[in-house]
Amino acid sequence: MDIKTREDVVSVLNMPFDEFEKTVKKQAFYTLIESKKNKVLVSGMIAYDNICKNWCTYCGMRAGNNKLKRYRLSLNDIFDIENQIKKAGLHSVFLISGEDPKYDFNDILKMVRHAKDIGLFVILAAGEQSLDGFKALKEAGLDEYALKYETQNRELFNKIKPSTTFDKRMEAIYNVKEAGLKLGSGSIVDFPHQTIENIADDIMLAYELKINWAPIIPYIPVPGTPLAGEGKAGNIFIMQKVISILRIMLPDVNITAQQPGEDLRKGLGDFEGNKNAILAGANVLFADMTPKEDKENFAVINNRMLNEVERIDDIIKSVGMERQ
Ligand code: SF4
Repeated sequence: MDIKTREDVVSVLNMPFDEFEKTVKKQAFYTLIESKKNKVLVSGMIAYDNICKNWCTYCGMRAGNNKLKRYRLSLNDIFDIENQIKKAGLHSVFLISGEDPKYDFNDILKMVRHAKDIGLFVILAAGEQSLDGFKALKEAGLDEYALKYETQNRELFNKIKPSTTFDKRMEAIYNVKEAGLKLGSGSIVDFPHQTIENIADDIMLAYELKINWAPIIPYIPVPGTPLAGEGKAGNIFIMQKVISILRIMLPDVNITAQQPGEDLRKGLGDFEGNKNAILAGANVLFADMTPKEDKENFAVINNRMLNEVERIDDIIKSVGMERQ
């Protein structure tokens, strides 16, 4: 099936799941096997700082959450973990933090430079930066910057992300590209007040932006956050459809396979959730290398719980693929 227009996207999103599984999902998996040469990309992840100045209404790390234990990793700890990632045979690192104005930008440049010097592909997500900031990161060796638009609907965006605006976010996203960095971007899938048409528009924006990576997951409510009182978790079957549509529209794109299954308490490392995501066309799994005592406090969502490398290898084998 050809999926090119917004109408095509809406029609897949509205398709009965049985029919989707027999047609579009199979096509997406074949496209994945062909475009990624039967390989799943495994990246080491370091959540180096969970302090954030922002008040996103869905996030467990929002500024007002005083119950969360906050941490910042030192530069030396980060260098050590980057070395461990290299030693584990992985080829890329994903450095992620909240928007912490007190984390020295020069230290961010240093962690990027170190990762590059030891031969890793380097991805960073540290919120909105200026064009000069993105250029400096590129100069330090950064390969890709992840900055999500979360939703292309201006009104919904401004509601769920009150510390910034849709226009500022899109300007920063275009600046990532302007600086010559690859772009990781995408939406939260199926959050309260979002319609199927909104989800279709989110997919069309990913297509227009020619993203390199779709760091997408369904909406997972975090108790105590404002949005949690406004609706339930995103539908994991819609999530699979979004993955398949993106794979068919953008055959070479990377798509997060770390997806929840039906029991959200099993987190993003759920075996069936991850397996179904790969079968729908996703191809990226993360090994969380953040120190044990800190990782559960990187609480953008509850029960994030990513897998260790060995478990990831089991998931990859279960679908007959290999680790990249
Ligand atoms: S989603 Fe990101 S920017 Fe928003 S509050 Fe959470 S950590 Fe901060």
